[in-house]
Amino acid sequence: CGIAGYIGHRPAVDVVMAGLRTLEYRGYDSTGVALAFAGKLAVRKRSGKLAVLRDSLAAEPLPPATTGIGHTRWATHGAPSEANAHPHTDATSSIAVIHNGIIENYLELRAELETRSFSMSSQTDSEVVAHLVVDEIQRSGVEVTEAVRRVCRVLRGSFALVVSSAADPEVLVAARRNSPLVIGLGDREHFVASDSAAFLAYTSRAVELADDQVAELRTDGLRVTDLAGAAVAVEAFELERDA
Ligand code: GLU
Repeated sequence: CGIAGYIGHRPAVDVVMAGLRTLEYRGYDSTGVALAFAGKLAVRKRSGKLAVLRDSLAAEPLPPATTGIGHTRWATHGAPSEANAHPHTDATSSIAVIHNGIIENYLELRAELETRSFSMSSQTDSEVVAHLVVDEIQRSGVEVTEAVRRVCRVLRGSFALVVSSAADPEVLVAARRNSPLVIGLGDREHFVASDSAAFLAYTSRAVELADDQVAELRTDGLRVTDLAGAAVAVEAFELERDA
């Protein structure tokens, strides 16, 4: 339902939580964040309102990080629960994924992953993406952005995805098809969200990702390609701020 991601110099958890708050009115049943730091991913998920997650983070803060992703879920596949909340990770928490939309061929992909001893820990359609990205990295030795491009080619349905990698905390990878995703351009920082309202407090310059495009966000850079890896020219625009 709601997606917010950040890479830059600020405490990522604050930017992501503030972003999710602006998307709260859309409705959701659970929430979660993942932060990348020192070669690890820290994940916190909760059923229910954003305030439950916020209280948990206040009581037991995650390690400081300047790369993070967050999600508010409106369940389509799998009951509303903490296990089904996003971000979803692989077994070793090397990849974290947040997803809006529906992966139509997830049962097929899931069955195939399970025959190769990947085990699922949720009932969602989204979780397969985390395992598929890890599988692609392990089998082909590609970096995370190329892995996401390859995985997007096998996905059917609709998706806005943001992927964070423990091995590469300097990068966030975003991709979409039939589900909105906007990138915010800041000064040595980048934002990504399902709605620009999530980062309008920080920047009014934005780039809209088009269908079947993959964006690699870094503190200092943004690179957008198609699913084959060919560079795509992006055009930044100014968002309107309400007075
Ligand atoms: N289909 C996914 C799920 O049920 C994503 C739902 C959403 O867009 O929030 O977990």
